[in-house]
Amino acid sequence: MVLKKHVVHHNFQNVNYKKHFTVLFLYLLELNSYNYNGDIVNKYKIVMLMVFLCFALAMQKVNEHILDLPLFGKVIYVDPGHGGRDPGANYKDILEKNINLEISKILSDALMEKGAIVYMTRENDYDLARPNIAERKRSDLSRRIRMINESACDLYLSIHLNATPSSTWRGAQVFYDDINDKNKLLGVKIQASFKKYLGSKRKLKQINDLYMYRMIQRPGVLLEVGFLSNANERYVLQKPYYQKKIAKAITEGVINYFYE
Ligand SMILES: [Zn+2]
Repeated sequence: MVLKKHVVHHNFQNVNYKKHFTVLFLYLLELNSYNYNGDIVNKYKIVMLMVFLCFALAMQKVNEHILDLPLFGKVIYVDPGHGGRDPGANYKDILEKNINLEISKILSDALMEKGAIVYMTRENDYDLARPNIAERKRSDLSRRIRMINESACDLYLSIHLNATPSSTWRGAQVFYDDINDKNKLLGVKIQASFKKYLGSKRKLKQINDLYMYRMIQRPGVLLEVGFLSNANERYVLQKPYYQKKIAKAITEGVINYFYE
């Protein structure tokens, strides 16, 4: 039964407080499902409407959430280089192995926030060599290669810091081996992101002579995120705000790689 609006008004004083709200709600929606006595003749319809609205709002939330998960289901291996007895590059007692681990952890969080499943080759200060092995470095690299190759990861990101005898060199830079067709595209996207977020003027570079990156079959790149030998960069590389900026830049580069 369809009712004119003025009848709803007429019966307003007869309904209790809760009905008041419902009547007003329906009035606003112009869903005039009231009879002449002000009773709800279509209360199931109202309940269903409420349920539907709640469901619609919930779905909207879910959608917003999914839309903000561009890396949903992607498996990414984050590989902080060095560790343990191998400090990597250094400036006095400032060691690559510690800073790249901090950045790698922040990066892992940033990738997970976008929906990725993240593995790390190391999460603490140790190398991956087998105990008592003479060629520790080779053993460490072999283990990393095996971990990444045996995973079903969509890509890997090796995180390193650079150092040169000259203190003038600076800027985050991506290196790739062309062993995998996808590596260059990933490199292009992350290098562009380094330029955008970190102001890096360095260029993407191909390297085909590094054992580890030649041996990894999954797509991925080596990221030298800054120079410890440059005073300004050394300073910011140790600061959480800059480490987060690096993580954001890499994450956006990865998203662009998957979606552009
Ligand atoms: Zn390194």
